[in-house]
Amino acid sequence: MRRYFVAGNWKMNTTLESAKGLANAIAADVTQKSPMVDVAVCPPAPYLVPVREALGSSKVSLGAQNAYFASPGAYTGEVAVEMLQDVGCKWVILGHSERRQLFSETDDLINKKIVAATAKELGVIFCIGEVLADRQAGRMEAVLQTQLEGGMKDLDAGLLGQFVIAYEPVWAIGTGVTATPEQAEEAHLFIRSWLAKRYSAATAEGIRILYGGSVKADNAAELLSQKNVDGALVGGASLKPDQFLPIIAAAAKLAEA
Ligand code: PEP
Repeated sequence: MRRYFVAGNWKMNTTLESAKGLANAIAADVTQKSPMVDVAVCPPAPYLVPVREALGSSKVSLGAQNAYFASPGAYTGEVAVEMLQDVGCKWVILGHSERRQLFSETDDLINKKIVAATAKELGVIFCIGEVLADRQAGRMEAVLQTQLEGGMKDLDAGLLGQFVIAYEPVWAIGTGVTATPEQAEEAHLFIRSWLAKRYSAATAEGIRILYGGSVKADNAAELLSQKNVDGALVGGASLKPDQFLPIIAAAAKLAEA
């Protein structure tokens, strides 16, 4: 049985003070209420250390929003996998649509980053998803397949122990438009079937597939109740405890049912 995983992507938001406050609020609530759900927060890089301190000994893990594939060296502006681990990161988000669209990240570059992170046993949240034009043209599966094949090239099953896929339809990110539970389930099932063909049925069954795209307190339970939806990657709503904590609570309730 796959454990639910709820991760907050804070993107380029928060201040030092608000990041610490948010981390404190999440850590306090999660420690008490959600033993059955894995939770992570991914603050901006400058706030990783203070957020780790605010999370303290809570079960909320720390994630980064990006990493470079090379070992430490002359790469101005980049952050290495081992640096993220050095400050306590357990996860890194790779392949997010904002990185693909705004920073021209290709499947090839994302693959290099995934290979580097998994080789050092840093957990990866690998984001994939189609834009609206692709969905409308019936190309959703083809786009997901291309992103899966490209991003997971040369990735052995043995490296997938801490590997999560986030299906994030680009048309649902930050737009307030959410995929219907049926649309999410259809895409997740396609991803799991691809994993089964590429690796094995057992490997595919073990990999958690999160949904991301305008997940909120009021739509989380319906999305998370789908058979192949194993959690959520949450952007906007992860910045507000009164929106984020109910998403975790919804997962906890389903896990206990
Ligand atoms: C995201 O950016 O990963 C995301 C899902 O954002 P939002 O929840 O704001 O749509």
